[in-house]
Amino acid sequence: MITNKTLKLSLKSLREFAKKRLPDQELIDLDARDECPLEVVRHMCSPDKLGIQLLFIPEEFGGMGGGTFDVYCVCEETARIDLGVATAVLATFLGSDPITVGATPEQKKIWLTRIAEEGLLFAYGATEPEAGSDLGALRTTAERVSENGKVVGYKITGNKQWISNGGIAGAYTVLANTPGGPTWFIVEQGAKNFTHDKPEDKHGIRLSNTAALAFDNVYVDADRLIGGVEGQGLNQAQAVFGYTRLMVAAFGLGAGWAALDRAIPYSTKRIQAGAPLSEKQGYTHKLIVPNVARLEAARSYIEETAERIDAGEGSLNTEGAIAKYMATEAGNLAADASIQALGGYGYTHEYMVEKIKRDVRITTIYEGTSEIMEMTISRDRWQSHLKTRGQHYHEQAKKFEALHARHANVGADIAALALHALAEVMEKARVARLTRYQHILLRLGELIAYAECAGSLARRASLMAENKLNEKANRRFDAAALAAISRVFAREAALKVGEEGLRWVIGAGGVSDADIPALETSLGLPAIHRAQAGLISDMDYIADVLYGRAAKRLEAAA
Ligand SMILES: Cc1cc2nc3c(=O)[nH]c(=O)nc-3n(C[C@H](O)[C@H](O)[C@H](O)COP(=O)(O)OP(=O)(O)OC[C@H]3O[C@@H](n4cnc5c(N)ncnc54)[C@H](O)[C@@H]3O)c2cc1C
Repeated sequence: MITNKTLKLSLKSLREFAKKRLPDQELIDLDARDECPLEVVRHMCSPDKLGIQLLFIPEEFGGMGGGTFDVYCVCEETARIDLGVATAVLATFLGSDPITVGATPEQKKIWLTRIAEEGLLFAYGATEPEAGSDLGALRTTAERVSENGKVVGYKITGNKQWISNGGIAGAYTVLANTPGGPTWFIVEQGAKNFTHDKPEDKHGIRLSNTAALAFDNVYVDADRLIGGVEGQGLNQAQAVFGYTRLMVAAFGLGAGWAALDRAIPYSTKRIQAGAPLSEKQGYTHKLIVPNVARLEAARSYIEETAERIDAGEGSLNTEGAIAKYMATEAGNLAADASIQALGGYGYTHEYMVEKIKRDVRITTIYEGTSEIMEMTISRDRWQSHLKTRGQHYHEQAKKFEALHARHANVGADIAALALHALAEVMEKARVARLTRYQHILLRLGELIAYAECAGSLARRASLMAENKLNEKANRRFDAAALAAISRVFAREAALKVGEEGLRWVIGAGGVSDADIPALETSLGLPAIHRAQAGLISDMDYIADVLYGRAAKRLEAAA
């Protein structure tokens, strides 16, 4: 267990270390040289230095026993510094996850203790040239080696592609096909016939090492088979998706905010047409405020999911997928808008947002692409829709109507409109069998993510108002600001679900011309349109908060 005080101290040390060792110019130079700062990564992982590794290793193996919420906080903070370094440091957790969920007690003791005591770097070797999103297409094999009728080891042969820390890790978890099915193995650096390629020349996260791995009859003892039983690999990989996708969600969140936190101060200094850009509504309300709303909606979903995983609700793969999808898409949009916010300067290396934009791009690809997230979300919630005879999201919506009765200003009523509309779109899709179109299935995934995040943010704003937020939760915004952010996001979500839902139903031939007006009504579109009232004044308020003008306005009004 990590206390809030310890967590905050760790985050502070991380920030101070970065300020000293990874100032902007150093990051820009390393990016230009396409260099992974190995010494910095080792320092961050080393138990007698920054020791980030210790946070996540269970106490019984010499770590600090941090939970999912702690992981999210550390991932966000590290990503704010540099996403390449974050990838290098956090790849160890990804790499050791098959051990955490599937290893025997003896294996856990050996490997998790080595991570805690030696700062051993891990890499996670799943992807192959032919097996990316579809890991079932795995070609790497692990052939049994037997002596006197007993399996004593395995010979691994195959190739892995795009492996973070591939050229610098001390140990690798490698997924390979055994006669019993896909299985994780631990292979150490230096094993005979195991080689890695030169680092990839990447678009972004150039401070992380990414390399292909080659195994040519690499022998490992049988005790390197994680869990000791063949065929558990895909289940073990599945078992941590909720958790690992939250890590990448936090990366998207951290990088998105890192970009906005450069654009916001820049706009207070940049004078155009006689005033700072920060005072131009057409600037703040396009480039800054909507991105803040989307990032905070994603944060809310991340925090809720982390709390639930820590409370023992299981691996929450679908929730992890929603969090990753929203946060990484929002992070990309925020970084792109930040380039625009800096104009020509944003397009140069010197101002960092250009680098952040290149870096954050990976978050919608690795650990499951956005399209795979859409599919995961949609398939799971489709089942909930069917099992409840179409009531799943209507029931959720009713809860937010009840929340609205207690907290009238947190946007819960608008989130309810989004959820009711979603239930209607899904029902129309069921009746007209529209999920036979893959595009519709995936678009539903997006609408589900928006509607659920709107609900989550409204709930978070109400908890904030009641002073009941998790003590480790982010408190950048006070209750009034969070409520305004929630209302802005809920309006976007409701409009998206209502209008895009209608578009896809009509687009797939799910409704006749004559029935379109009735569908518009059942989706609640008139109410969704009316709920847009007050949008500009909420955006004004959020901009005032972001630029420190809200208190001054209140003073002036008093
Ligand atoms: C910098 C970097 C670091 C990485 N680190 C690691 C690591 O440490 N360990 C590791 O194992 N892997 C790692 N990866 C691999 C990463 O997880 C994969 O790239 C990712 O899962 C996508 O696989 P792919 O590249 O083969 O793309 P593909 O699966 O070929 O997908 C290509 C496109 O098609 C879409 N698509 C795929 N399947 C479908 C479908 N059924 N329906 C509709 N659309 C579909 C995808 O969404 C994507 O847009 C890394 C990749 C990069 C670039």
